[in-house]
Amino acid sequence: MPWILSDIVSLAQYVATFSMKEFDKKRCLHCGKLGLWRHGHYPRKADRSSVSDESLNPILIQRYYCPSCCQTSSVLPECIPPKRWYLWDAQQEALLLLLVGKSLNATAKEITPSRHTIKRWLTRLKERFLLHKDVLCNYFIELGRTVNYIDFWQAFFKTHLLSAAMRLCHVAGVLIP
Ligand SMILES: [Zn+2]
Repeated sequence: MPWILSDIVSLAQYVATFSMKEFDKKRCLHCGKLGLWRHGHYPRKADRSSVSDESLNPILIQRYYCPSCCQTSSVLPECIPPKRWYLWDAQQEALLLLLVGKSLNATAKEITPSRHTIKRWLTRLKERFLLHKDVLCNYFIELGRTVNYIDFWQAFFKTHLLSAAMRLCHVAGVLIP
């Protein structure tokens, strides 16, 4: 389970502001104790947009070790989803096209991820709509008036990013799409 750093919404911002800086360590996510140790970092090929000589890869992800429970946790910027290939902004771009009524085929022609991947994103977004709405309405009360997942996400994306929504769901323990 990672920590997710809020408001770091691009890889360039992450590299410039955080990747080498000591994390202001919080309590262990597993046992709640203080006193975590820095435990190196691992590389992630998170940058899939730039051409190779402009690429920010490898993106270094910090790790911390808890001597009390012997668990390790990593620290991700908000823009990088845990255990996923594409960044949240790629997923948001796809969802925005689908929400305005584009078909899966038309969406897949406009952006990099495959039709199969885009379909999976959409299916999960629909399946988990009530869970996401439950969490996000605690922060954005006006979303309570929306009636279905299309209304809801269209309203949300007017002023917020998918990465912010998914960070809040992650903190609340709700599965993210
Ligand atoms: Zn611990």
